[in-house]
Amino acid sequence: MSTDNTVHKFVDDAAVIAFVSAHSDQLDLSVPPVVEEIGDGNINFVYRVRDHRGKSLIVKQALPYIRIIGEGWPLSLDRIRIEADVLRSEACWAPHQVPELLYFSPADAAILMQDIGDHQNLRHALIERRELPGLGLQIGDFLAATLFHTSDLFLNSTAKKEQLASFINPDLCGISEEVYFIDPFCDHERNSVNPLLLQEAKQIWADDALRAEVAELKYGFMNRTEALIHGDLHTGSIFVRDGSIKVIDPEFAFCGPVGFDLGTVLANFLLNFSAQLGLPSEMEEKNRYQHYLLQQLRELWNSFSQSFLELAEQKSADAGLASVQWRARKMADFFADMLGYAGVEMMRRTLGIAHVADLEQITDESVRVVSERLSIRLACLLITRRGELSGIEELLKEIQALQQSL
Ligand code: ADP
Ligand code: MG
Repeated sequence: MSTDNTVHKFVDDAAVIAFVSAHSDQLDLSVPPVVEEIGDGNINFVYRVRDHRGKSLIVKQALPYIRIIGEGWPLSLDRIRIEADVLRSEACWAPHQVPELLYFSPADAAILMQDIGDHQNLRHALIERRELPGLGLQIGDFLAATLFHTSDLFLNSTAKKEQLASFINPDLCGISEEVYFIDPFCDHERNSVNPLLLQEAKQIWADDALRAEVAELKYGFMNRTEALIHGDLHTGSIFVRDGSIKVIDPEFAFCGPVGFDLGTVLANFLLNFSAQLGLPSEMEEKNRYQHYLLQQLRELWNSFSQSFLELAEQKSADAGLASVQWRARKMADFFADMLGYAGVEMMRRTLGIAHVADLEQITDESVRVVSERLSIRLACLLITRRGELSGIEELLKEIQALQQSL
């Protein structure tokens, strides 16, 4: 693991251009290009370099600390090596669904990659209530392809262990272990809670049975090395255009539970679903969009489970894992985990340190609280009843019933 903290931030535009020039000939740099810092993330620096013909590439640089906090919160540079390696792995199994990695420089802690700026941030698309056909299906296929091929159902035992070793990611897993599984479930100083939601938040913080369920999920996150997961698959890590998705930013990746990535996506769709209640629009339009979101979740789960099982049938070589009965049971475990991790993600995005724009765009606290209440009640449902719900149709019915009961 790199512990080299001597990496220096690109000092100026010329340094970023020199990096591009040294590692790619895709841009015409005979005329000075335009460099723009476009990072809206919290952790790293992201630059777009555009040449005089309009062709552009992206440079992402990690520094040994968190960008928005500074040197007070150090963070291993190994995360950018992990990001580069995951982009390579994903490109093998879902080549059109990730930006192409052009170069990784350990010395600069920087990667050079394709600009996917012709795609829109999915969180923004959902906030605009765009209806992209086939969205759930494409995300489901991406997850099936990347998770299956990095699991024991595809890799042989030695390759799987090598993968496990090369994606040990203690700093970023450490952040997740705290911000997902600890902060939202106690009165933590990092939390940010709408004062009008405080009563409900206090009930959550006092709920021992809920805490036991979250402990189980945290333990699974720390111990179940099922596949190479993205680790931060919220809707701001997925970019979309008609008929296409691109998944970025896999620096939180490690070998973890399959249900975690599925759950993070599910949660972010349901956060937007919850936000609809408080948004200023005709009821009919909001209902229509909620219906669209649930339909995408149906397609996501159905395409994921079908593709994953088909891949297992075609490509799985391990005789000990060949039982069709066991595979069906495993799929039920993935489903239950998806629900549990979705609940945790919804809690942290409503009560924890990092909120989402879907809810935060509702500026009036007394209006936002209605959406936030739905979000945390859905989260409780997902966490506590994850083992009982028989499948996606029952889940979607429960979500609608809970909304109507508010
Ligand atoms: P961080 O790791 O700091 O969260 P991200 O990888 O999420 O950074 O990138 C921050 C932003 O930079 C993204 O939201 C997106 O707008 C832009 N970005 C990152 N990678 C690309 C890319 N390959 N093409 C176009 N834009 C990108
Ligand atoms: Mg990010």
